[in-house]
Amino acid sequence: MADIIQLLPDSVANQIAAGEVIQRPASVVKELVENAIDAGATQIKVNIKDAGRTLIQIIDNGCGMSDTDARMSFERHATSKIRTANDIFAIRTMGFRGEALASIAAISEVELRTKEHDRDLGTFIHISGSTIINQEPVVCDNGTNFQIKNLFFNVPARRKFLKSNPAELKHIINEIQRIALANPDISISLHHNGSTIYELAGTNKRVRIVSMFGKNINQNLIPIDTETSLVKLTGFIGQPKHAKKTFGEQFFFVNQRYMKHPLFHKAIMQVYGKILPPDSIPSYFIYFDLNPADIDVNIHPTKTEIKFENESAIWQILQASVREALGKFNIVPSIDFDQAGSVEIPMPLHDYGNVHTPEIKVNPAYNPFEKQSPVKNYSGSGSDFLQNPAQRSNQTNWQSLYKGLEPDLSEKTEPTDEPVQFKIEEQQNVKSSVQFKNKYILTPVKSGLMVIDQKRAHERILYERLMQVLENHEVASQQQLFPETFELNASDATLLTSILPDLSALGFDIRDFGKNSFIINGTPGVLNTSTPIEIIESLLEECKNSPANLQEKARETVAISLAQASAIPYGQTLKPNEINELIDNLFACQTPNFSPKGKKILSIMPLDDFEKLLK
Ligand code: ADP
Ligand code: MG
Repeated sequence: MADIIQLLPDSVANQIAAGEVIQRPASVVKELVENAIDAGATQIKVNIKDAGRTLIQIIDNGCGMSDTDARMSFERHATSKIRTANDIFAIRTMGFRGEALASIAAISEVELRTKEHDRDLGTFIHISGSTIINQEPVVCDNGTNFQIKNLFFNVPARRKFLKSNPAELKHIINEIQRIALANPDISISLHHNGSTIYELAGTNKRVRIVSMFGKNINQNLIPIDTETSLVKLTGFIGQPKHAKKTFGEQFFFVNQRYMKHPLFHKAIMQVYGKILPPDSIPSYFIYFDLNPADIDVNIHPTKTEIKFENESAIWQILQASVREALGKFNIVPSIDFDQAGSVEIPMPLHDYGNVHTPEIKVNPAYNPFEKQSPVKNYSGSGSDFLQNPAQRSNQTNWQSLYKGLEPDLSEKTEPTDEPVQFKIEEQQNVKSSVQFKNKYILTPVKSGLMVIDQKRAHERILYERLMQVLENHEVASQQQLFPETFELNASDATLLTSILPDLSALGFDIRDFGKNSFIINGTPGVLNTSTPIEIIESLLEECKNSPANLQEKARETVAISLAQASAIPYGQTLKPNEINELIDNLFACQTPNFSPKGKKILSIMPLDDFEKLLK
C-alpha cells in the first residue's frame, strides 16, 4: 500500500491553530493590544468597525519591528519573548507562544505598518489568508499599526458562529476594560464606527477605575495594600452599601494580567458575608503581584484562569486584607452565626392573635381622585400582584372546576400548559398556608403537603402579565414622579441600549442620555415597582446569563429576565394575605407548575411519606 501520511501545509496548520487562539473579534483585539504592551507602548489606539467584522485596527507607539522581524512575526512559533523552555518560568510578558499573528494572518487580511524609532523608513506588509501579497518600505510613524480586515473571510463556519454586533462589541469592550485596568499607566482609546467608547489617559489605578466606571464609584472605593513575602496585594474593594446586583465590577489581576478566580471571589464574598444587601456583589479591583515562578503560566493562551503554587496561603492573605480594609472603614463584618441548624418557630396558621408592630405605609402613586382597585404592596420588595379582571374571575373558578381531581404532580418534568389540578384545604375560610425559611410556601392539599417556591411562583405570575402586555399591545407605563438617572459601565450600557426597544414595548420609558447614562421616566404598570434602577441592574445580569441569543425571541427573553429580576426574592417574609394572594395569582396563570425558564414551581409531598417518616 502506498504511504498516505503527509505534513499539513503551514496555511492549513495555522488555520486550525487559529481556531483555538482566535474565537471572535475580541480575541484579535486582546492579542494585538497585549503585543503592543509587550512592545513597550505607552499609547494604544483601537479602532473597530462593525464590531470587528470588517476592521480591527490597533496603533501603538511601541518599539516597532525591523523589516525581517516584521516578516518573521507571522511565522508560527515566532516570538521575541522566550529563547529557551526555561524562560517561561520567569515570563512577565503577555505572549510567548508566537501563535497569535500566524493565526490571525491565516483567517483574515492583515496590513501591517511598523517602524523602529531609529529608522527613517518603516515596513509595510500585506497578507491575506497566510499568503504574503506584498512587502515594501513605507513612510510611517514610530511603532506599529495593524489593520485586520474581513476576519474569518475564509472560514465561513466561524463567521456564522459570531453573535450579534452588540454582543461581539461587548466582548471587545470587556477585553479593553481588563487590559486598561491592568495597565492604568498606558493611554488607551477605543472607537467603534467612528464614535469614542473610551479615551483613557495614562494615570494611576484609582483614576483609571473612575474614568471607566464613572465618578460615582470614587467615594465607594476602599484601598487595599498588603505586602508579604509571598504576594503583594493592592487595589480597591467597594463599600457594601454600594454593592450592585450585577456582575461587572469584579476584577482580579495577577502580574498585570486579568484573571478569573472563582475561589478567590468566594473568599471575598465570605468576608463581606451578611453585611451585603441580599443578592448583591461588591465591587473589587485587586492586583496580585508575585514571583512569576509561583504561578503556572504554561496554560492555554486564551484561558484566564491561573494556578497558584501557594493558593491556600494567598486565600488567607486575601481574606485578611479585605477584612482589614473593611475594618479601617468601620465596616466590620459581624460574626456569622450559622442559622441553618437553628429552630424556626412557624407562623400561626391563622392570622389572629399575633401582634404586629404598628407601621405606616405611604403609597406615593395614590391619587385620591382616581377610582382604583385596592393595591396591596409587598413590604420592601416594591412588587405587587395587580390583578386583571380576567384572572380574577379565573381564580374564583379554578377551585370548583377541579374539585376532587388530584393527579400526582411530582412525576411531571416537562413544562405543560395544562392547569394543575388539586384542591387546597381551607379551614374557617382562611387558607392554612405558611411560609417556610422565607423561601417556600407550604400548603396542605388533600393528598399531602404542597411546597411552592415563592420566587419562581412570582416569576410565573409576572411573566404571564408581561407577555399579555406584549400580545395585546396594552403598554401601560407608570410615570415616575421623580425620574431617576443612572450610569452604567460601557458594556452594560451597550447591552441596555440594545434592549431598549423591547423594554419600551413592555412599558419602560428609558432615555439614553449619552456617556453611558440613562434616565428612567416610567416603568411597566404591571410591575408597580418603586426601585426601577435595581430592577434594571438585575435585568442586565439576567440577560447576560441568558443562553438564548437576544436577537431571536428578544422580547420573550427580556420578559423572562424582567420577571426574574422583579420577582419577590428569597429571604423576604410574606404576610398571610400576601401568601394567599400569591397562591391565588399563581393558579390563575396558564402554566402554574413551571417557571418561565421551565423550573418546577411546586411539588406535593404525599401523605404516605409523612406516615412513613413517623413509623
Ligand atoms: P508572542 O506575542 O507570543 O511572541 P505573536 O504572534 O503575538 O507571539 O507575536 C510575534 C512577535 O511579533 C512578538 O514576539 C514580537 O516580537 C512581534 N510583535 C508583535 N506585535 C508587535 C508590536 N505591536 N510591536 C512590536 N513587535 C511586535
Ligand atoms: Mg502575542
